Amino acid sequence: MYLCDFHTHSLISPDSSAPLADMAQAALERGLSELCVTDHCDLLDYTGHPNAHFDWAGAMAQFHQVQAQLQGKLTLRLGLELGSAPACPDSARHILRQGGDHLDFVLGSLHNWIGRRDNQELYFTDFSNNPALAREAMECCLTHTRTLVTQLPDCYDSLAHIIYPLRYIQRDGIALDIRQFEAPIREIFRVVAQSGHALEVNTCRGRNVEDWRILLTWFRDCGGEYVTLGSDAHRPEDMAKGISQAAQLLRQTGFTHVTVYRRRTPVLRPL
Ligand SMILES: [Zn+2]
Ligand SMILES: [Zn+2]
Repeated sequence: MYLCDFHTHSLISPDSSAPLADMAQAALERGLSELCVTDHCDLLDYTGHPNAHFDWAGAMAQFHQVQAQLQGKLTLRLGLELGSAPACPDSARHILRQGGDHLDFVLGSLHNWIGRRDNQELYFTDFSNNPALAREAMECCLTHTRTLVTQLPDCYDSLAHIIYPLRYIQRDGIALDIRQFEAPIREIFRVVAQSGHALEVNTCRGRNVEDWRILLTWFRDCGGEYVTLGSDAHRPEDMAKGISQAAQLLRQTGFTHVTVYRRRTPVLRPL
């Protein structure tokens, strides 16, 4: 099985303190063939304020240093988790231009409310005893995801954690059945598939692999071919958690390959 983790963070992200060298060492110990570091560039910060900066110099220096140290023992790719592009498309394109040819992979993600609740990170919303607010969060996320895939196809390669609000909805004890959003999700998946983009299975450090079964079934049904796998590890201890289970789930839902990226071009690897 080709093991790869295409959603990981390092100390370039504001919420990680892990040197990339430590993350790469953990990847080697877990038997990965390929690792992509996808540090955060959130165009809305966690309080909802616009941000148009990413530390490319730091990210590239770290990447090239660790790549040289690895001496080919592990394929290392340079990615970016670009958050809230639909809220700030000009900033998104500016940041991507700065990455230039060095950039292998872009995850398109949403972590914030957009146009509601001061654009704040969903983490700060208390969903306890409020299923209507949970539905509103999922609807908001899907609305802006639809904008990303229809209007900003150059701003992502793989659609990151499309069910991100569920992390906090479930944290607060609300059971939200994703099947009530089947129609808008299928509409997004058709665009992702037809435009040759990928869907990410985000294991959330191994916690919710099974949530993806129905989503993979819909994506395949919509003509989806490219799927990337990511643990969202922010620490070496979480590296690749849930990746082999996610690969098995891919097989069970009819996929024969996992997708990796080089220079923003998909490459299929047999599972
Ligand atoms: Zn994310
Ligand atoms: Zn992430």
